[in-house]
Amino acid sequence: MKKISILILALVFISCKSEAQQDKENAEEYKIQKTESKWKAELTNQEFRILRKAETERPFSSPLNDIKQPGVFVCAACGNELYETEHKFDSGTGWPSFDRAVENSLAFSSDRKLGYQRSELLCGDCGGHLGHIFDDGPKETTGKRHCINGAALEFIPKEKS
Ligand SMILES: [Zn+2]
Repeated sequence: MKKISILILALVFISCKSEAQQDKENAEEYKIQKTESKWKAELTNQEFRILRKAETERPFSSPLNDIKQPGVFVCAACGNELYETEHKFDSGTGWPSFDRAVENSLAFSSDRKLGYQRSELLCGDCGGHLGHIFDDGPKETTGKRHCINGAALEFIPKEKS
C-alpha cells in the first residue's frame, strides 16, 4: 500500500513538472515577443489589461458584438487573423462569440482563475489573452463557443467587390 502511494505521489510530481515545462516552452514559441513595457506603450490601457494581464471586459461593452457584415477579426496586438464573421454567432453572453477560429491561428492554455479549469484561448503569434473556449456552442456546427473579449480584436471589413 505504501509503495502505491509513493508511486502516485511520484506520478503527480512528474506530471506537474512536465506541465510547467510545457507552458514555458509554449511561451518561447511565439514568433512575436515584446517586453511588457513595450506592449504597454503600444496598446491602450484596456487592450493591455486584457491581452497581457488576462482580464475580462464587461459583457455587452464591445462594439464588435453587433458586427454582422463579412470580414475578419484580427488580434488587436499583432494583427494575426483569428476569426471570420461567418463563424460568429449570438451567444447572448455579451461577448463576441465564434464557433471556430481561423485554422492554426490560436494557442491554448488553461487557467484556474475562477477555481475551476477553463481552456484559455491565446493569439498563436503573440500569446495575447483572447478569452476562453466552452463546449456549449451551436450543436449544428462545431458545438464550441469561443468567448472572446472584443477589446482583444480589431475588425477588418471585407472589401465590396
Ligand atoms: Zn496577437
